[in-house]
Amino acid sequence: MLEDTYKHQGMRRKLIQKLRDKGIQNERVLSAMAKIPRHVFFDNAFLEHAYQDKAFPIGHGQTISQPYTVAFQSELLEVKPGDKILEIGTGSGYQACVLCELGAKLYTIEYQKPLYERTKVFLPQMGYKPFFFCGDGSKGISAHAPYDKIIVTAGAPSVPTALLEQLNIGGYLIIPVGDNQTQQMLRLTKDTDRKIVKEVFSNFSFVPLKGEQGWQ
Ligand code: SAM
Repeated sequence: MLEDTYKHQGMRRKLIQKLRDKGIQNERVLSAMAKIPRHVFFDNAFLEHAYQDKAFPIGHGQTISQPYTVAFQSELLEVKPGDKILEIGTGSGYQACVLCELGAKLYTIEYQKPLYERTKVFLPQMGYKPFFFCGDGSKGISAHAPYDKIIVTAGAPSVPTALLEQLNIGGYLIIPVGDNQTQQMLRLTKDTDRKIVKEVFSNFSFVPLKGEQGWQ
């Protein structure tokens, strides 16, 4: 199942070129994504979709994010080896693999138990070993805070205050915020006097962030 053929490597190279053409410049992000087999997240019947730049259903009404979205959020995070990162929305685990490949010490939380169960077994088989949690990530994971960076991979109605509280000084929170159709990608930085600096990027369309500080 984890076999990576020349055919897949070729398709992955083309996908990476597409990401460059769309404006992704961070070479570490591009090499991480060039290394990770995306087809292993797909059933055999859908393999031809694996290296297209689009989101795809992974069951339970959820999706594996579009490669461009993964690259965009990873680029905004500016991951340094050893960064302690919290990911909200483990889903398939593909974004988690990218963050581990970039050298993050990763904590990842998923709301839906079947996805959590599947991913916490599957990722270690691929050689990636983040810390897995199941629960409402809109509240963060206070027991392990603070984090250098936090990434939310589901669309939120507003910025959860818990996530800002759990961010280290100088840390980033990357989060799509908007309505249930379109969200603006935000990067919030906690500066040295704990003030939050907001940067706004382009629009995306995510599945909803559920939970206490998400969509009820
Ligand atoms: N990072 C994922 C990937 O690479 O496949 C993308 C996953 S999908 C776009 C968003 C995920 O967020 C879904 O699996 C969904 O169940 C999860 N989610 C939604 N609300 C959540 C919450 N409050 N806490 C944790 N996970 C949540």
